[in-house]
Amino acid sequence: MSIAEELYLEALADYVLQDHSQNKMPDPGLTERFSSVSVTDIVELHRVSTRRIAEGKPEDQALRIYDASLRFLTDFLAHCNKSVYAAPSSLVLLKNKYENVLQHMDSGIALFNESGRLTFINMNMARLIGLPRKALIGFRLIDVMRNRMVPRKIRKSMLHLYREMVDYRTPYHEITTGQGRHLLVTVTYENELDGDVLISVKDVTEYKRIEQAAYQNDKLAILGKISAAIAHEIRNPLTSIRGFVQFLKPELTRMGKHEYADIILDEIDRANSIIHEFLNSSKPTAPLKKPVLVHAFIKDVMLLFESDALLHQCRIEVGPIDQTLTVAVDLKQVKQVLMNIVKNAVEAVAQSRGPEGRIQILAVHEAPWIKITVSDNGDGMDADTASRLFDPFFTTKEAGTGLGLSVSYRIIKNHGGKIDVRSRPAQGTTFSICLPE
Ligand code: ADP
Ligand code: MG
Repeated sequence: MSIAEELYLEALADYVLQDHSQNKMPDPGLTERFSSVSVTDIVELHRVSTRRIAEGKPEDQALRIYDASLRFLTDFLAHCNKSVYAAPSSLVLLKNKYENVLQHMDSGIALFNESGRLTFINMNMARLIGLPRKALIGFRLIDVMRNRMVPRKIRKSMLHLYREMVDYRTPYHEITTGQGRHLLVTVTYENELDGDVLISVKDVTEYKRIEQAAYQNDKLAILGKISAAIAHEIRNPLTSIRGFVQFLKPELTRMGKHEYADIILDEIDRANSIIHEFLNSSKPTAPLKKPVLVHAFIKDVMLLFESDALLHQCRIEVGPIDQTLTVAVDLKQVKQVLMNIVKNAVEAVAQSRGPEGRIQILAVHEAPWIKITVSDNGDGMDADTASRLFDPFFTTKEAGTGLGLSVSYRIIKNHGGKIDVRSRPAQGTTFSICLPE
């Protein structure tokens, strides 16, 4: 860049980045430097400079920069004693370029002038409203809201937004679409924008997802702490009970009741091992991974459910599964996950299907995952349940703990994997566990 070009960039940046009410005329020293430069070259320099200034700025600011930069250019050319009309085509080209940039932004943008008429709208915004751009330009917001061609739902949310943002002047508003996407609507008002009102709509579904995942992790960390504390507290009295029973055992044997002592000791050991399992799985430590055969460990888990399935008269079908399929996991932990999910499936079908109940377990290699799916034809769940099912202590069952899935979620996360759920009310539910291959 030559010195003159650098000075131009500096003056332009000065002009467009400051409050527009204080826009000052270009420095005469600068205009003099450009007296022998052609209008076309100035326009080209202007184009490059504006782009540099607007690069990486949020779209409402970029729009303001483009807008102000056109004013600067007109002023500048006038001060150089050059007619804007010397190069009308390059000016039109320039304007088209800015419009192009705005057209292709991933946010929806609409600009209303001081009398409330739509002067600019990009493709994304027109798509959101559901009408072609040509049918919208020149109309007032109120006309668009009354237009019967715009779907009713959209008109309703526009009216709601209008009240919130124009009547109460809240600058940000969030809406959720019928498809479950989150949109952030921002309004920039007249006093900042020469009497115009700029509305921009950004899809923030991904940010929301990340935010929720962070929240979920927080809750799981708390669950881990609480459960570790409770389990620890239970283990202490169990240890002393065990000690006293052992101490009393000769006495019981003498009374011919030694089997009572054995049962008590066995049961205490079982309780202890449950606590141990639970502490293990809820601890945020890295799992001890070893390669295991997928079909073999699924079979192990199935054996545990045989009597349960028989009792509820439902059928559990496994496979076909590639007999060579292996995955590196902490076997104890992942078995527990599969048990939690199959147990839920059995409970779901037992409740609604009786003998018609079907559960299917499959495992496939779907790079980069080993994917295990458990499908049931139970009652499924509504959207509210689906969104809270991994929350600790969330349960819809009378005797439920609401811990199965939150513990499973944590275990699979610690393995670097993920759990997905697809469920349709009255049709059934499919859980998929994805583990890194
Ligand atoms: P619990 O089984 O103790 O209720 P979970 O964490 O295992 O706790 O499950 C939480 C909730 O998720 C259940 O109460 C149930 O509402 C729902 N759920 C889980 N699996 C299924 C399924 N296969 N079909 C329908 N609902 C399910
Ligand atoms: Mg459960």
